[in-house]
Amino acid sequence: MGRKLLFDKAHIEGIRYYDVYRANGGYGSAEKALKSMSPEQVLDEVKKSGLRGRGGAGFPTGMKWSFIAKPEGVPRYLVCNADESEPGTFKDRYLMEFIPHLLIEGLLISSYTLGCNSCYIYIRGEYAWIPDILEEAIADAKKNGWLGKNIQGTGFDLEIYVQRGAGAYICGEETALIESLEGKRGNPRIKPPFPAVKGLWDCPTVVNNVETLATVVPILRIGGEEYAKYGTGKSTGTKLISACGNINKPGVYEIEMNISVEEFIYSDEYCGGIPNGKRLKACIPGGSSVPILPANLLLKTAKGEPRMMTYESLSDGGFATGTMLGSGGFIVLDEDQCIVKNTLTFARFYHHESCGQCSPCREGTGWMKRVLLNIENGKGKMSDIDLLWDIQRKIEGNTICPLGDAAAWPVAAAIRHFRDEFEWHVLHPEEATKRNYGLAHY
Ligand code: SF4
Repeated sequence: MGRKLLFDKAHIEGIRYYDVYRANGGYGSAEKALKSMSPEQVLDEVKKSGLRGRGGAGFPTGMKWSFIAKPEGVPRYLVCNADESEPGTFKDRYLMEFIPHLLIEGLLISSYTLGCNSCYIYIRGEYAWIPDILEEAIADAKKNGWLGKNIQGTGFDLEIYVQRGAGAYICGEETALIESLEGKRGNPRIKPPFPAVKGLWDCPTVVNNVETLATVVPILRIGGEEYAKYGTGKSTGTKLISACGNINKPGVYEIEMNISVEEFIYSDEYCGGIPNGKRLKACIPGGSSVPILPANLLLKTAKGEPRMMTYESLSDGGFATGTMLGSGGFIVLDEDQCIVKNTLTFARFYHHESCGQCSPCREGTGWMKRVLLNIENGKGKMSDIDLLWDIQRKIEGNTICPLGDAAAWPVAAAIRHFRDEFEWHVLHPEEATKRNYGLAHY
């Protein structure tokens, strides 16, 4: 069994509730931080741990925290990004729903380290039932002296507020999230200035993902150096992976970042293999934004080494032969799945979610969707495949926020690795339409 740091107590009945959480060592890390460590010492532990942001970008958390500006007399804010909307990603939902105090304890330690007295959890609108769980946990933590004024007699004050989003994927982008939190339309801001200098209400702000902030708790419990012994290379610690698609055991798994992709897919401890003896065709290992990889490149790198569930190994070879760990949304496709249809589904999503501020994204995502729809529906031409390639290239790197890249990469990777399948759709329009169970209407 792989070692667990976040889910080590997830099996305990009632761990969702304060009394059970506390009886099993909960708030021990917060007690240690607030009562016996300075904010600088906590920051040092987080830096030593090598923790990287678990929302997708993988930026070192300690470094991000050290960027926060500290102008005299200006409040600082911590924002917990719980707008988990990337297709295939549902790991933060599990943490918030079943172990909410782990997140609250992480927010407390992080706020103390950053010098924030107000913290916001911005949660996606579709997680309609979770804010009540969080608010109940916040009320219990406050009743027991872990929030509010003079926490545990240490003189530190903190309030945590839960803000519901309205169901826009773009509000997961940190500056769009801040705009939305301020009551405006969730349009991403042009950077710089970065939120660490000018964020919520123009004050210094750190925005971190749910899993990232919850992970601060085990880091404080075992120490940064010990945490860094988990995993391998620059992928230290454990990572939550939400696995779905054609696997026997879909779910949320905590893995130590030292296992191979093959072990993750086929072992009974994790995905349990592919149903009905089907062959593995492809996988999108880090949520819908990251490039799809065919089975041969997924299980082994271009150098012939086993592909590992780490930031470095999954991206080995760049986008020519690699992909990204991203948000850990692991989508498995068996031999029966249609890559064109899969690409169209994602293209439709990104077109729908584009905020429309920049023309390459606003126009390009809709254009890619229409071309893919034609190919999928047996009305495509060979030149459409080159046209798709051209459109995605003109989007990538030419937009205000990463949604443009996120829309372009899946299309590029699908054509790069499965061009023959696009051509087959063009050459066999009737068969392609039948195989896809009728015409697609998006
Ligand atoms: Fe909006 Fe797309 Fe531009 Fe991002 S890339 S700011 S989502 S139009």
